Amino acid sequence: MTYDYLIVGAGLYGATFAQQAAAAGRTALVIDRRSHIAGNAYTEQIAGIDVHRYGAHIFHTSDDAVWAYVQRFARFNRFTNAPLANFHGQLYHLPFNMNTFHALWGVTTPAEAEAKITAQRATMAGCTPTNLEEQAIALVGTDLYHTLVKEYSEKQWGRDCRDLPAFIIRRLPLRFTYDNNYFNDRYQGIPEAGYTALVAAQLADPRITVRLNCDFLADRAALVAQARQVIYTGPIDAYFDYTLGALGYRSLRFETETLPLANYQGNAVVNYTSHAEPFTRIIEHKHFTNVTTPQTVITREYPQDWRPGLAPFYPVNDAANTARYQQYQALAAHEPNVHFAGRLGAYQYYNMDQVIRTALDDWAQTAPVH
Ligand SMILES: Cc1cc2nc3c(=O)[nH]c(=O)nc-3n(C[C@H](O)[C@H](O)[C@H](O)COP(=O)(O)OP(=O)(O)OC[C@H]3O[C@@H](n4cnc5c(N)ncnc54)[C@H](O)[C@@H]3O)c2cc1C
Repeated sequence: MTYDYLIVGAGLYGATFAQQAAAAGRTALVIDRRSHIAGNAYTEQIAGIDVHRYGAHIFHTSDDAVWAYVQRFARFNRFTNAPLANFHGQLYHLPFNMNTFHALWGVTTPAEAEAKITAQRATMAGCTPTNLEEQAIALVGTDLYHTLVKEYSEKQWGRDCRDLPAFIIRRLPLRFTYDNNYFNDRYQGIPEAGYTALVAAQLADPRITVRLNCDFLADRAALVAQARQVIYTGPIDAYFDYTLGALGYRSLRFETETLPLANYQGNAVVNYTSHAEPFTRIIEHKHFTNVTTPQTVITREYPQDWRPGLAPFYPVNDAANTARYQQYQALAAHEPNVHFAGRLGAYQYYNMDQVIRTALDDWAQTAPVH
């Protein structure tokens, strides 16, 4: 055997685990079926701008150790996510805060805004929400729901809000201050040289070998024979050839354009919350890093159902999928020397800081390979 670890997937989980193993003197072969490292956090340069190829990725965390860890591999800027919502040409600040309430109702004080919301939520008083529409109105009232939640959610999930389960939206935070910072975390930023450079720095140890365009499932036996242990961060159902059926996902289609103008929308993220546009967001990548270039690159995001061949992005953690995932987990427990991890291995939506945390913890708990 040539390597201590075969790590399937060069995303943030795989790269973090490989880096930790290499720092402890172990060898790792990291493979990815894509032509690049960094998984869904991958950024590539177009017209001098770092383009987030698989959707906007903003690093945010309150985990001191994870923040200290990523600083070792990249310098972060002080980007603060302050998205806008466009509803039929009218702009609103997100998350829901005093700026949003002012644009919606002309109110200027928290007391006026709270009174509006309380009155509108009252329509659901005493009722248990049975669908997403009722849940959202119970949380934020009718105006916010109809302007900023309803049609956006319907585009995201491809279904009427009355046909979507209430559990999809557990919280819709309301902020009674003029604060447009989307995240509450202590730390936030974007790697100045892009996420791909961050992951490349993680993988730069000579004990790590990276092989791209290499599909584990296409050459499983030969690859497994090269290492003592496998860390698998691909889809858990694909590993078992979908024998128990496919797990459900939502996918996205990205339409990226380079435009001959310096500034298209003046903000990194603008959500489109009505059915007037078929996409959910437009990302203007240069605003993540504030670069000055004569051109700009924008990406429109179109949600779509997942089917084999498309990238699985968001797990649909409903009762049926959760039960199916648990059956796959039972199979995984009997797979010798294979550890299933990362967002696809665990069939769970993780933010980047969470996936790094799980990789650091998994490494710390891993018995040394001898
Ligand atoms: C649209 C979108 C926006 C997001 N925005 C944010 C954000 O703003 N902030 C944030 O913190 N997080 C964000 N995330 C989450 C972030 O992308 C994940 O936390 C992170 O990418 C998970 O890393 P991972 O290594 O688990 O998985 P991935 O990045 O998916 O890496 C897994 C890798 O395994 C490879 N692979 C799979 N199967 C095989 C196989 N058979 N053989 C070889 N290789 C294989 C894949 O090609 C992939 O590169 C976002 C996610 C999405 C989908």
